[in-house]
Amino acid sequence: MDMAAQSPATQNFSDAVPDEAFVKRALDMANLNALRVALWQATGDAELARMGTVAVPFWSGVYDVIQLAPEHAERVKAKALAFLRSGAGSRLPHPEDVQIRDMMAMLAGKPVSDFIFEMGKEELNFVDYPRGVAWSGDGPPEGREGFHVLVIGAGVAGLVTAIHLGHLGIPYTIVERNPDVGGTWWTNDYPDARVDIPSHHYQLTVTRKHPWQHWFAPQPELADYIRTVADDHDLRRNIRFETEVAAAHWDESAKVWRIRLRDKGGTETAIAAHAIVSGAGLFNVPNTPDIPGVETYRGAFFHTTNWDHRFDHADKRVGVIGVGCTGAQVMPSLAETAGHVTVFQRSPHWVAKLEGYRDRIPDEVQWLMEAMPHYWNWYVFATYYTMFCEDGALFSIDRDWQREGGLVSRKNDALRQALTDAIAREFPDDPALARKLTPDCPPFSRRLVVDNGWFRALKQPHVSLVTAGITRMTPAGVVTDDGVEHPLDLVVWAGGFRAERYLWPVHYVGRHGRTLEEAWAKDGARAYLGMTMPDFPNMFMLYGPNTNPRAGGLFAWIEIWARYAVQGIAALIEGGHAAMECRRDVHDAFNAEVDAALGDCIWGLDGQASYYRNRHGRQGINNPLRPSVYYDKVRKINLADFVLD
Ligand SMILES: Cc1cc2nc3c(=O)[nH]c(=O)nc-3n(C[C@H](O)[C@H](O)[C@H](O)COP(=O)(O)OP(=O)(O)OC[C@H]3O[C@@H](n4cnc5c(N)ncnc54)[C@H](O)[C@@H]3O)c2cc1C
Repeated sequence: MDMAAQSPATQNFSDAVPDEAFVKRALDMANLNALRVALWQATGDAELARMGTVAVPFWSGVYDVIQLAPEHAERVKAKALAFLRSGAGSRLPHPEDVQIRDMMAMLAGKPVSDFIFEMGKEELNFVDYPRGVAWSGDGPPEGREGFHVLVIGAGVAGLVTAIHLGHLGIPYTIVERNPDVGGTWWTNDYPDARVDIPSHHYQLTVTRKHPWQHWFAPQPELADYIRTVADDHDLRRNIRFETEVAAAHWDESAKVWRIRLRDKGGTETAIAAHAIVSGAGLFNVPNTPDIPGVETYRGAFFHTTNWDHRFDHADKRVGVIGVGCTGAQVMPSLAETAGHVTVFQRSPHWVAKLEGYRDRIPDEVQWLMEAMPHYWNWYVFATYYTMFCEDGALFSIDRDWQREGGLVSRKNDALRQALTDAIAREFPDDPALARKLTPDCPPFSRRLVVDNGWFRALKQPHVSLVTAGITRMTPAGVVTDDGVEHPLDLVVWAGGFRAERYLWPVHYVGRHGRTLEEAWAKDGARAYLGMTMPDFPNMFMLYGPNTNPRAGGLFAWIEIWARYAVQGIAALIEGGHAAMECRRDVHDAFNAEVDAALGDCIWGLDGQASYYRNRHGRQGINNPLRPSVYYDKVRKINLADFVLD
């Protein structure tokens, strides 16, 4: 987006002074705590440093949002206005670590932990590529150009890996099944698909300061962002689109992976790579409907990953099967024009309101992010700080609290009560419906659904909720176990994904002829740090088993995993090694730590089969370790964890 074309000012305020009322509106809309710190960085004004903060609980205290104490608001705005009017630059464009730490403490209202500092410094993005990888020596080592990496997938994980490899000059090829980049955000283009965490926290440090249009970006904007990442870094020339990685086996004598690719016409080719980084994603294997008679149904039938935009659902009878994040997100949009919407709910999910979820970011805010030095950085940091301030504690069971009669923990129970009350308030005249919409598991034992107009849509007379189980489909529609047939013109299958099928459908054969099926036969997918496994040398996966984070935006973690993988590859080349394989004792010890931590987490408490649990009943998706603990393990690869040869 061309910011200058959107806003009444260019970046230099003194050159093109916008209307003062516009600037005042921008300041009224600002995060004043972030603005204060940005202003302090730019001016060093001691009064700003002395101002206090308050912690404002959000979602019943799930998060504490640290805000500027209200008594300082007008003073900060006045100082910011004067600064912007002066056209002055910043006195401190490249702060030292100690200064950054002081400013973080200023924003947080207290000193920050090492974890908040280290990861927060990356999020602040004061330097280019804060999560980049460098050679440990003075320059690139011999042999770098003869090394080749296969990167699987052109979602953000694959693209970030490619950017790191590109900086080091390590040759690579990305192989992508789809015809374009984007991954999740290319595939899932159902109506009103959008991200459920703030856009400014769902962005990469490799393409920073993106002028988001929405606080929570919808799918077209996200797809556009990911295209920008690919184009800015000139990645397309190294991508083979519409090609699938079908199989890979480790050739021990040549110390390479032998890979079989298949294009969309079914033609197979063989390539070799010294290392593989899989960015195949967690949500790539759609759950297919297992409803008897589905093949007899004569109406339109879409999986949410396969939307047919030519079909006009206006005035039609639409059925939505599934009420998780996707079903709840798409339903309100369908209800806007459909003749009737029937929502089939197997079990309810917790749905929480998020103010401004569908709102555009005003021009004033966009302008301020450009015009005020460092404001964007501190705004991003403030969002990160909020997302991490509770360090994932919400997912932990508090045994003492339980002994006193609590259900999970003070925080979790408080949220549960607040969400229960909110449902009751939505349907004051229909307590039976409110009960049907109230889950009997703790919030966050499954992914929390953000309210995209869900409750509002359910109140409309042409939207009905069916909680009877689906028994079969007929040519006309869906039959439920109360014997009712629901005639439908369109059935939307929001049945989600087979997330437990890591790396599927690639058939990997590692050292000693070991397959993934064998490695994971006992209780499903496992890896060291979720990334690397014994018997599978020179291979890393991103967003692997037990890595779905307890806190924070996924893109930050993806950058961290990609950094780890590329650190490994760089060390391999620099050390003149042919192979690196994760030590089994290291792998097993890490997994024992994960298992122990899982016992204190809430993910087993939903009483239902959710995608968090695999067919062995193990929770193999979420990361039970505190983010600070996990971050310490993944920020820098430890070569002692590997057997090198
Ligand atoms: C509908 C939906 C909404 C989501 N919303 C959020 C959200 O709000 N917040 C959040 O944090 N996360 C969300 N996620 C999770 C989301 O998947 C991640 O945030 C992120 O996009 C994952 O990026 P990725 O690169 O790891 O995987 P993906 O984006 O899934 O990309 C993987 C790519 O690999 C390709 N690929 C896979 N296997 C092969 C193969 N064998 N050969 C060739 N190519 C292959 C795929 O085609 C795909 O393009 C959502 C997921 C879905 C499905």
